[in-house]
This record gives sequence, structure tokens and C-alpha cells, in this order.
Amino acid sequence: MTALVNEIAGRLMDFLMGVTCRCALCGDILSIDVLDRGICRACLNRMAAEMRWTCRTCGVPVRPGQAYCPACTTRGYWFDAVKAAGVYHGSLKEAVIRMKYRGERNLRTPLGKLLVNVALKLPPCDVIVPVPVDPTRKGLRGFDQARDLAEELSRALGLDLDDALKRRKSNISMTALSKRDRWEEVKDTIELGRSCQSRRFARSRVLLVDDVVTTGATANACSRVLKKAGAVEVYVAALARTAIWG
Ligand SMILES: [Zn+2]
Ligand SMILES: [Zn+2]
Repeated sequence: MTALVNEIAGRLMDFLMGVTCRCALCGDILSIDVLDRGICRACLNRMAAEMRWTCRTCGVPVRPGQAYCPACTTRGYWFDAVKAAGVYHGSLKEAVIRMKYRGERNLRTPLGKLLVNVALKLPPCDVIVPVPVDPTRKGLRGFDQARDLAEELSRALGLDLDDALKRRKSNISMTALSKRDRWEEVKDTIELGRSCQSRRFARSRVLLVDDVVTTGATANACSRVLKKAGAVEVYVAALARTAIWG
């Protein structure tokens, strides 16, 4: 009888633990020390190892000991630095896709906490600005992932969130463009929203938030608008970074 009660109690605990305490990335049951983070120690260690050596400017993984990737030794950007929690592959990529395309918004808390750690590695900022979503995409999905993450960050860091940037619909398919043309085209789609006061960013340090940084073209275009509006520094915090530079 006692054995049966223990068995039932054990299964009930496993069920409850499984429902409430699984890693948001790999699904393993969480140990007590990372329970509040929502991501298991193995996943956290893997991401930390991937991002041990990254380009000081664009945040892409580089060879041990290198400070900059080959692209950043010759190219200038409008942003001051990009930092990401991990490389855009495996379970982190799947989690971003689950949140972005399948609407799993319960991932916002663990992924938001991951982003808080990224932001704390960057210089302190005055205001948080989300990278604006393509208006057609938002229409399709009904929500805006970068803004969801920026909200989490705003709450955790106690910083204002400003939806200053807007993205106009591009009439040209980005995938049909060469890399160089894509950089030019995206530049023209980002602008300050009408409600944004012109002096809002004067002498400020801005924390720009996005889910994934791929080429850096969008982050660069956003940073350009913010700097032209008076921002002195723009830092980009992202959940994931593709491992290819340039
Ligand atoms: Zn995990
Ligand atoms: Zn770089």
C-alpha cells in the first residue's frame, strides 16, 4: 500500500515538474538552481561556450583570441556593438521559431531572462527600442516578438520602452536582392514614428532589441535612424546570432 502511494506521489511530482519545470529550449526537467531561469544548465553552458569568443562589433562568433570578424575589420556600422545569447541553431533556433511563428508566448519569460543577461553585458542604456516588425508579417502573425522581448527587458531593467521606430512595407522582395542591395533597401524602410518627439534621443544611449540578428542590416538601419535622431550610442541585444559574419 505504501509503495503504491509512493508510486502515485512520484508520478504526480514528475507530472507537475514536467508541466512547470522543463527547460524552454531542450525540454529537460530543470534542476533547482536554474528553476527561476527556465533554461537548463546544459543549454546555458552550451550557449556560453558558443559565445565565448565573439566579434566586439557585430557579435558573430570568431576564432579564439580574435577581437573582430573579417567583415568588421573593414566595415563601419551605425551600431556600437551587438551581443546575443547564443548561435541561431539547434534548440535556441527552434524556441525562437516556436515563439515567432507558432505563437508560444509562454516562452517570453525564459527567453526574456536570457536577453536580460545579454543586456547586462552591454554598457548601461537610457531607453529600450524594439526593432520594428515588417507590417505585413505582423498582420500575418498578429503579434510582435521583438516588442514582447523588449517589454520583458523593460520590466526587468526598469528602463523606458519606446516604440520609436516604424518599418514601411518594402515593395521589393528582399530575398531577390543581392546582399549589398538588401543593405540599401532595408535602410529606406526604417524611420522614426510620427509620435516620436524629435529630441527624445538627444545624447541618449539606446538598447535596441531584436530576436535574431542575421546580416545585421536591419539593426544597422535602425541604429542609423536613432543616431541621426541624436542617440550617442546604440547597443543591440538579441537572443540569437547567425554564425556567419558579414
Ligand atoms: Zn535545456
Ligand atoms: Zn564583426
